[in-house]
Amino acid sequence: MEDIKGRLVVLGGGESGVGAAVLGKDKGLDVFLSDYGRLDSGYKSILEKENIDFEEGSHTEEKILNADIVVKSPGIPPSVAIVKKLIEKGIPVVSEIEFAAYFTNSKMVCITGSNGKTTTTLLTYHILKKAGMDVGLAGNVGNSLALQVAREPHEIYVIELSSFQLENMYKFKANIAVIMNITPDHLDRYDHKMENYAAAKFRILQNQTKDDFFIYWQNDPLILKQIREVQGEAYRLPFGLDKEDDTAAYLENGIVKFNTPMEVWEIPRDKISLPGMHNLYNSMAAGLSASALNIKKDFIREALEDFEAVEHRLEYVATKKGVRYVNDSKATNVNSTWYALESMNSPVVLILGGKDKGNDYSEIESLVKEKVKAIVCMGLHNEKIIDFFQGKVNEIADTHSLEEAIRACKNLAKEGDTVLLSPCCASFDLFKSYEDRGNQFKKAVKSLKD
Ligand code: ADP
Repeated sequence: MEDIKGRLVVLGGGESGVGAAVLGKDKGLDVFLSDYGRLDSGYKSILEKENIDFEEGSHTEEKILNADIVVKSPGIPPSVAIVKKLIEKGIPVVSEIEFAAYFTNSKMVCITGSNGKTTTTLLTYHILKKAGMDVGLAGNVGNSLALQVAREPHEIYVIELSSFQLENMYKFKANIAVIMNITPDHLDRYDHKMENYAAAKFRILQNQTKDDFFIYWQNDPLILKQIREVQGEAYRLPFGLDKEDDTAAYLENGIVKFNTPMEVWEIPRDKISLPGMHNLYNSMAAGLSASALNIKKDFIREALEDFEAVEHRLEYVATKKGVRYVNDSKATNVNSTWYALESMNSPVVLILGGKDKGNDYSEIESLVKEKVKAIVCMGLHNEKIIDFFQGKVNEIADTHSLEEAIRACKNLAKEGDTVLLSPCCASFDLFKSYEDRGNQFKKAVKSLKD
């Protein structure tokens, strides 16, 4: 634990910021929270109830630049003026997870990667709960880590970490660090350099010792490249489809085998509840994390068998007139749509589109040719998708709202087909968030005639 004293300034008043403010207050710091936008009424009332000084709609420099330590919301880019000034003055700027960890000795299981973080985090949490552990869920899913450390402490935390959170972590140590994969996403924030993005993800390994574990996908070229450069001491538990020298989880004749110094066990692939190759990886990573915590194989097996799909991730919605509708609204980049398509066993009507983050659609071209009978574009600007897929699928519909898109899907899909919303793009052109997009999709599908 660190000895933190003086003035804490929190930038950003969302889940993580308010949690950090409450923890700081509980620990006797002089706390001030500043949010450039408007605060959500729920968070505002917590700050009022806790007597925490705050402002919204501006950043008052005199009240910020006198901080001893600053907790910055991961949503605020390091390039904004106030953050630059803090850095120039040499004031430490840390993430909420880093700050929370100064006040606890609990075990940290941390999961990062471009895709599969939430699923693996929830799956790991589910296994630990099943095994009766005292465990909290934090990071991008669940409640603020700082708030839990302050008010509802647990012995273990399972934490989903984005590269944005990792950027401001320095002394934090993950007892178990998981990197699922590293594929292009959010490159706009990393000067369009993959090395910078990968390096941010690898911060998850900093401070690890030989008593800690590093779990990763053994076939990811970028992970392998970084591993060669970073000499971590942690015990490595790689996973992948094929057994290599040190593979700790792999697939052999339809059986998923786990082979760690803690436990050797197996589970038939078809017993694992979540479908698709990506979820096989997610299940391997979660199973290895649990083994690293010495969880008995029976608990792990049972949990992998009865885990239910996570909302907006290949979530089955309904079957209408013989057509299956699947909501994968969380697929906001090309790689996640690749895995969604890979898991499909029937002809697909694919809904694509939204806010393009510099997508290269060639990654899914061959799967689209193999499995997709029609593409329904749903976005404000569909030209790029139409240009790319013209002539590669039988039909492309150009729609600009959810209602139009659903109507097109209904016309294009026949009995036995699957309508898959897996858009490759962010949602912000037509929707508030990917959750909003998924919820509206589900509502529209459920109201279709059977
Ligand atoms: P994240 O939290 O990293 O965004 P999620 O678990 O929410 O990941 O999954 C997001 C989407 O990514 C899913 O809808 C699925 O299509 C895809 N996906 C899930 N796991 C993986 C994986 N291990 N590798 C690649 N894609 C994945």
